[in-house]
Amino acid sequence: MEEYKTFRINPNLTLIRMPGNVLTYLIQGTSSALLIDTGYGFSHFRTFIETLTKKPYEVLLTHLHVDHARGAGAFSKVWTDPRDLSLTEMPISEEQKQAFLKATGQDAQSLIPPIKKQDLCLLSENQCFDLGGLTVEATSLPGHTPGSIVPYIREQKIAIFGDACNPFTWLQVEGCLTVRQYRESLLAYNQRYQGKINTVLFSHGAPDSIPQSGFGILEEMIDVTELVLGRNDAAIPLPAAAGGGLLACPMDAVTMNRTDGKMANLVYTTANIG
Ligand SMILES: [Zn+2]
Repeated sequence: MEEYKTFRINPNLTLIRMPGNVLTYLIQGTSSALLIDTGYGFSHFRTFIETLTKKPYEVLLTHLHVDHARGAGAFSKVWTDPRDLSLTEMPISEEQKQAFLKATGQDAQSLIPPIKKQDLCLLSENQCFDLGGLTVEATSLPGHTPGSIVPYIREQKIAIFGDACNPFTWLQVEGCLTVRQYRESLLAYNQRYQGKINTVLFSHGAPDSIPQSGFGILEEMIDVTELVLGRNDAAIPLPAAAGGGLLACPMDAVTMNRTDGKMANLVYTTANIG
């Protein structure tokens, strides 16, 4: 199980780095635990998680993209936002499967069967998970997918933004919302969580680091959406191999940081500005 690397963010929160640069998180309270995302679905992941905790645990998916949710098939109680059930990623095509096997350096024998949509538990609006001394709010931040969820650890003021808002946010993928709709989500989230978040964590990032920021990335993203809606952004075309679409703000190709020193960045298409 050397494919999984862990970083202890604090005594209750562990980051697990998986093949293919995918990050999952394990949150442990005094009575139970919550696993955030499951990766592509490589065997041994559940066994590995159970070396990290002996507490009863459930799984909360940030969204139903294959790199975060396919592995949910290994677990018995898995929560998702019902708005993501419309996504076409599961079951995935053979072509997609071969692409991620190549990207992660894994072989097909290491894959577990994917979760069936009918086996998922559906979240209600603003559902909370009481882990004993820690409360996790499952808050929606639609955009990257219609049912994107941001887990928020209330007592620690930590939010796992995942793919929902980060330095390379994808709004050019099938099933995502428009930039205009995303902006509404960001404004609603900002109104609710302004002043309540100290640390923001992501689901992808450079090796040997904990990809994170402060709440400012959300405020920056609101500004980015305004630039895009006004057609005042840089609109830099990206090659198809990098996911395609238009990049809103100039970025250093090596560090993936914005050249103006800010963090929030957005990839979109002219068809989904809204
Ligand atoms: Zn995603």
